[in-house]
Amino acid sequence: MVDIVDQRTRSRMMSCIKGQDTKLELLIRKRLFKLGFRYRLHVRLLPGSPDVVFPKYSAVIFINGCFWHLHGCRFSQLPKTRPDWWQEKLNRNKLRDREVIQRLAENGWRIMVIWECAYRGNASRNNALDRICERASSWILSEEAFAEITGPKSISHG
Ligand SMILES: [Zn+2]
Repeated sequence: MVDIVDQRTRSRMMSCIKGQDTKLELLIRKRLFKLGFRYRLHVRLLPGSPDVVFPKYSAVIFINGCFWHLHGCRFSQLPKTRPDWWQEKLNRNKLRDREVIQRLAENGWRIMVIWECAYRGNASRNNALDRICERASSWILSEEAFAEITGPKSISHG
């Protein structure tokens, strides 16, 4: 990997985004387990190796970091250094996400995407987590093919 951003920027991005993402995934998993759902993790045999898989319900959940998956919210602003390079890289991620979702759907899976901004940046993270898990669990039990849980999208300036 070519070192495009300086070391400090890189470690800030990694620690902030990756760490957060992993932690949120863990919190969601724990809650859903408590609610009685049983799952498998990061199933490599499936397209995109989804984060959490509920075979009984033909359902998979992705917990997406907003930056890496180019969500378009306030947590997905491009770095000041080499914005074009990042744009291209992250566009590829986004494109791959779309393909993965399509392939999963073709194989009869239902897909939910939970964006980190649904949790991060919330005044009360506990409430946010409650809401996320409530929605996720009712979705798992539903027959809805695709659903997303997201925080507010970026504030538009007209
Ligand atoms: Zn977001």
